[in-house]
Parts: sequence; C-alpha cells; structure tokens
Amino acid sequence: MLVVRVLAFALAASANATAAEPPEPVPAGIVTHLSTTGRTVALTFDACQAGRPAHLDHGITDFLVQRGVPFTVFMGGRFARDNAVDVQALASHPAVSIQNHTWSHPTDLRKLGDDEVRAEVTRAAAEIRHVTGRVTTMFRFPGGHADDRTVALVEALGYRVVHWRWAEGDPARDIDADMLVAQTLERTRPGDILIFHVNGRGWHTAEALPRIVDGLLARGYTFVPLEGRLPPR
Ligand SMILES: [Zn+2]
Repeated sequence: MLVVRVLAFALAASANATAAEPPEPVPAGIVTHLSTTGRTVALTFDACQAGRPAHLDHGITDFLVQRGVPFTVFMGGRFARDNAVDVQALASHPAVSIQNHTWSHPTDLRKLGDDEVRAEVTRAAAEIRHVTGRVTTMFRFPGGHADDRTVALVEALGYRVVHWRWAEGDPARDIDADMLVAQTLERTRPGDILIFHVNGRGWHTAEALPRIVDGLLARGYTFVPLEGRLPPR
C-alpha cells in the first residue's frame, strides 16, 4: 500500500512538473533579479485587467503601507482608469511604485503587430499618468510572454522590462496561504523579484503576506524598491 502511495505521489509530482509553465527562453534585456549579492528582495504585484472588472486588493496594500514595506505594482491602464480613486490613494504613498502592465492585458503581446504593442504601452502610460501624476519607467509583459522584437519595442519607448526568477502562481485557487508562505520562504534567494497579484485574483495572497514578510525579515532579508536596483543594461 505504501509503495502504491509513494508511486502515486511520484507520478502526481512528475505530472505537475510537466503541467507547470513551460520554460520559455528569456530574451536579453529582461530583468529577473536585482543587482545585488546582499539579502535584499523586491515585492511586486500585478494589477491586471483584461475583460472582467478587477479591483485593488486592500488586504495587501493596507498591510504593506502600514508596515512601511516598499512595493511595486505593475498596473494595467484599464485597471487604473476603472479604479482611479483607489489608485490615486495608493500613489499618495511614496514607498509604492506604480509601473506599466499594458492597457488591456492581451494574452500574448508576441502575437500583436509593432504598432499595437506600442499602443498597449503608451495608452497605459498615459492613463497611469493621468490618474497618479506619475511617469512609468518599468514594464512587465502579461503572462511574461515576450520575445526579442517585443522587448526591443518596449525598450525603445524608454522602459526597462522587469519580470521574475520564479512565479508564486497565486492566481491558482488551490495554492493556499500555507503553500504560498512555505514556497516563498524556501525558494527566495538574495536579489529575487517576487511576483504576486493585487487585482483580487491572488486568492490567498493577502492572508499569506504577513507571514511572508515576517518570515523573510527573520531570515535576514530587507525589502527594497526596484528603483535604483536594476542591473545595468
Ligand atoms: Zn498580468
């Protein structure tokens, strides 16, 4: 019986391994870690809005603001427009950075033409500037799907592309708070850029975040903003 269970577990584990996001080559220019060898880590959140309305997860933002932990939100232009009051209030905190995550969150920017890619970036930038008064300088591709062409287009607009080394996967409902805490404390390495969701689709993120922050602090990590800590081009 035990053998059967162990075998079943092994099969499930290997099935999960294949089902996980297939590794895509990371085009040159995409930042996946901070320029540091020290125990620093950056918290980032995506505020995606494609078709359905999305809202700011105050459980996350209130906690981090109250604790004085710096963080970056990669925000969709539609999200900024439809949540203008909340986004304006968020931007009043100097430790919160708001950056560009396209206008309409297309599933894969690689499938769009040059002009469409540029329009996704510039329209989001204009809306975020309109709502917050801030100029965006960093960009994150929806789903992380990028290639040399699309990265070059975004960089030509003056952006650094900032992704991650490993993803939390918090939009999956079955990744509960305990799992988020455990995987973060186990996987985090110096210079990591952690990615969660703050658009109401990071189902257990707000619940997990206090233990993640305290756990990383206890392991000697410092939370830093992305600004000034990206590797040179
Ligand atoms: Zn997104």
